[in-house]
Amino acid sequence: MPEKHRPTRKISIGSLQIGGDSPLAVQSMAATQTQNLEATARQIEVLEQAGADVIRIAVDSDADVAALQTLREKFPNAVLSVDLQENYKLAPKVAPLVNKVRYNPGHLFHLEKDKSIREKVEFIIDAARAHGCAIRIGVNCGSIDPDYKEKYKDDLVEGMVRCAVDHCQILDELKFENYCVSLKDSDSTKVIDANRRFAKERPDVPLHLGVTEAGLPPEGIIKTRIAFEQLISAGIGDTIRVSLTLPNEEKGQEIDVGREIIKDIEEGRFRSVPENFLDGLNIIACPSCSRVENDKFVELAQEVRKITAYAEKHRLTIAIMGCRVNGPGETDDADLGLWCGPSRVNLKKGTETLGSYSYDDILTQLKKELDLIIASGAG
Ligand code: SF4
Repeated sequence: MPEKHRPTRKISIGSLQIGGDSPLAVQSMAATQTQNLEATARQIEVLEQAGADVIRIAVDSDADVAALQTLREKFPNAVLSVDLQENYKLAPKVAPLVNKVRYNPGHLFHLEKDKSIREKVEFIIDAARAHGCAIRIGVNCGSIDPDYKEKYKDDLVEGMVRCAVDHCQILDELKFENYCVSLKDSDSTKVIDANRRFAKERPDVPLHLGVTEAGLPPEGIIKTRIAFEQLISAGIGDTIRVSLTLPNEEKGQEIDVGREIIKDIEEGRFRSVPENFLDGLNIIACPSCSRVENDKFVELAQEVRKITAYAEKHRLTIAIMGCRVNGPGETDDADLGLWCGPSRVNLKKGTETLGSYSYDDILTQLKKELDLIIASGAG
């Protein structure tokens, strides 16, 4: 089945073009500490060898910028993207070193409250324009701008879409065209819904698709496939990222899986998803990145799946996040949430924090809480 024509405009990310009739680009993100130059260089090599079109790196400090400079010198031809979460002020320092800058509208809200969102966006856009960078407006359901969260509390998907559309308008007014948008959630159905609604309203804007915190393979792959099959076959999506919780040396799997899904869709091979898939225990986990606070994170996610296997028939969600940047917010909707600190893991039940535990004790605590929820008849 040929892919449907994509009506988006083309944008340039360094030597790469996405949008319009360009091939779908496949990207990934380094999961190592950016300042650990050896590990991050190795991560870039792993992703390049797997054929990543774009490699994203997180930058949170001047020391990360210095590391990025060294990495750029070592990989002069790599198409690099930077993720600015809570540090938009670093934009002028990173823009000369990369090809794309991603900002999160939800995080802009919390910074420098005396400035308007538009002023902060303009600051980033000025830096991107001066250095020929592309921009991604990256909206995540778990870190949605509180103004939109409040206004659209009964339909958060609409809140994401409105936020993205409003930011597009700011960029349009600033006469900056080299941008794309992403609307991510850990729930495939919300990803499908958000991207469909956005594409209807802004068919010209290229879309970066992803199911965030999809988790461990194989479930993480299935969740991603569910979303991508629906969207790409309808001509929605210009670049993709498959977010999987994997050891660093296996990160290339994100690229392999992404290419396999695209090929299957192009050739009309759709995997039917059993009706009751995700009816039972749903484990979501972030793919980890340089912000991960303890290397034990991936192993922890694997252990959580193992020790909760007995609860597979219960309709409950357990979320496992690697750091404090997205951990506290992205676990709010889960029945039980874990987010990692350097030496302790925070355990939550919905939005309530139950306590923080050592990496040795967390699994026992988690199981206790899970047993209590099951005994209460929930799920
Ligand atoms: S939760 Fe933290 S460690 Fe995990 S991917 Fe997001 S920013 Fe990175």
